[in-house]
Amino acid sequence: SSSKPDISRAKSAELYEKAKTYFPGGVNSPVRAFKSVYGTPLFISKGDGCTIWDADDNQFIDFCGSWGPLILGHNHPKVREKVVSVMQNGMSFGAPTALENELAELIIKNNSFVEKIRFTSSGTEAVMSAIRLARGFTGRNKIIKFEGCYHGHTDSLLVKAGSGLVTFGETSSAGIPPAFANETLVLPLNDLNALKEAFASFKEDIAAVIIEGIPANNGLLIQDKEYIHALREICTENKALLIFDEVITGFRLGFEGAAAYYDVVPDLVTYGKIIGGGLPVGMFGGKAEIMGMISPDGGVYQGGTLSGNPVAMAAGIAQLTELSKSGFYKDLNKKAEEFCESLQRFASARNYQFKVFNVGSIFWFAFSDNPAIKTAAEIDPASMEKYKVLHRELLNRGIYFGPSGYEVGFVSSAHTKIDLEKAKRAIFDSLDIVFRK
Ligand code: PMP
Repeated sequence: SSSKPDISRAKSAELYEKAKTYFPGGVNSPVRAFKSVYGTPLFISKGDGCTIWDADDNQFIDFCGSWGPLILGHNHPKVREKVVSVMQNGMSFGAPTALENELAELIIKNNSFVEKIRFTSSGTEAVMSAIRLARGFTGRNKIIKFEGCYHGHTDSLLVKAGSGLVTFGETSSAGIPPAFANETLVLPLNDLNALKEAFASFKEDIAAVIIEGIPANNGLLIQDKEYIHALREICTENKALLIFDEVITGFRLGFEGAAAYYDVVPDLVTYGKIIGGGLPVGMFGGKAEIMGMISPDGGVYQGGTLSGNPVAMAAGIAQLTELSKSGFYKDLNKKAEEFCESLQRFASARNYQFKVFNVGSIFWFAFSDNPAIKTAAEIDPASMEKYKVLHRELLNRGIYFGPSGYEVGFVSSAHTKIDLEKAKRAIFDSLDIVFRK
């Protein structure tokens, strides 16, 4: 096969020129700018099921899914109808509504890791609040995070982080006072000794260890169960809280996320993305004793004008109701696994330096021979040049992946067998081109 001609991006380019006069880099979140892949960012005009359309009317099978929230695909009728019906009664009150109870019940009743929760408007806010709560609860200051894990853009966590930071080659943000960064200890993943040493050095100072349920912002770095269990034990021994950031994995791997996958009980968890059905929602929660420290019950302040917004709650309720139907995750995960397995079979048969990492309906392509990448350091930045070629070839064949080789892809329940077959053929042809170069 040969390279496909480039799709037209004329309308997107026009919109992008205008956007650049309004927004830094022309975007409201950095990775969207297509800086590490080919061409102008595509301006999306419509989504339905697993399909999206751009401003030039190009059509794509989408594996980004708004970076994770759209587990049912775009514009799911149940979600849309619930949102539209709730909107008839107004958009925001800044007062409690029954809808918050309804979504909370769907989350708490289906999940053994949270007794009490608080809704926020983003994953960043959820994590920021969980960190403050851990510090308030323990009376300690330091936190441990892992190299490559991304937890949103709160100051103390923008140190050696994944997502847009690793994509653009600067893993720690400017604008963070050293005094803040000093309270964050960054360790490599999958390294028990590093963890032990950190606790030996800073024993009484460590408020919490935060880890992504399954690190998925710097490639998909699936950790060993033994390591996660050892991490749990070390936290307990040292009276530090273990925070599972499940903004991606929560309600993605199953109703109980990565905590259930590893069979480990975190002290606090954060969710986002899926629980909001595509609207801005985050959440942190955990044991009632710890959550009791949150204002107005306790002294750790946290709040938000649009927290628990009725329209956003409606989307979450409709989405989680669909997910709670029997067999939902089994079917979705099986479909995703089969998809990933056949991609791997193709690449292996041709001896391509290409590994497909997969857990549940999350997947990631590594241009590597290592079948068990577990740390950020094991990813060769030079391999991203191959992703750039792949990404362009796939767009030209009607397949949309996130514009960064460090980011994961998602299969949704809206991807049919036919869609996945079509995507597979496009990926096969594109890989042939990547490896011919
Ligand atoms: N934590 C994790 C694990 C994430 O993947 C993200 C976003 N990708 C966040 C936190 C931040 O969420 P948000 O972008 O909604 O602020």
